[in-house]
Amino acid sequence: MGTQLLARGLKTNECGMAWNVTRPGDVGAIHQAYRNGGCDLITTNSFGGTRFVLAGHQLAARVAELNRAAAAVARAGTGENGWVLGDVGPFGDFLEPLGDTTADDLRAAFRDQIAALIAGGADAILVETMVDPAEAIVGVEAAKSCSADVPVIVTYAFQKSAPGEFRTIMGTTVAEAVQRAIAAGADIVGTNCGTSLTLDDYVELGRQLVAAAGKTPVIVQPNAGSPRLENDCAIYDATPEQMAETALKLLGVGVRIIGGCCGTTPAHLAAMSRAIKAA
Ligand SMILES: [Zn+2]
Repeated sequence: MGTQLLARGLKTNECGMAWNVTRPGDVGAIHQAYRNGGCDLITTNSFGGTRFVLAGHQLAARVAELNRAAAAVARAGTGENGWVLGDVGPFGDFLEPLGDTTADDLRAAFRDQIAALIAGGADAILVETMVDPAEAIVGVEAAKSCSADVPVIVTYAFQKSAPGEFRTIMGTTVAEAVQRAIAAGADIVGTNCGTSLTLDDYVELGRQLVAAAGKTPVIVQPNAGSPRLENDCAIYDATPEQMAETALKLLGVGVRIIGGCCGTTPAHLAAMSRAIKAA
């Protein structure tokens, strides 16, 4: 979503979530492009949708409005036969004792966001790009307190900590990250984004996630390869064909839900979808 908003003219310091209200046609067209490419699950444009992040754009008072609009735009762009994932990203700081925010304050903020996403038509909640299991757990608790039935997905961003070993930047291992999310009530667990991971790293990470998750289904949403910097911009070079090959490898190691994060355009997801559905 971030990549696609920037391609449509979003300024780097502008609030992409405001587009759910000011440019719903553009956001809806992005959702439809992925849906037309064969995606079954569409993620709302609400990554920075807590009052903590929106405060940086003087929009903290509009949490309910902007999240509800995000879900409604995605619902309209997805149609009745697809699923809308209400997106919840990190709140942008550390919980106590490293930071000043209490778990209670964060739970209340996530609740405000998630209640609006569900009211707008989200079918499930995606708590993503997590690096701290404590924050992920608060996200799961908030979602389950809004609705006992809503499926909750938790995905972490990992980096390579040693050959064949992955941890979040907080130092959390794959097994600990996954097991704490499942213990808190997450219905699906996995990974999205990541720092400097190759496509084969995502496959190995997927294998380790499946081993750690037991009976809980695993989702992997890789970036389009490891980015290189060009004029301060992150450029993702993996082709749709390479991503399709990666999707098949992920399927082969037992990953059940496959998508894309940074740099994965509708063309990448269409190639992945075609490969998976033909497999
Ligand atoms: Zn990403």
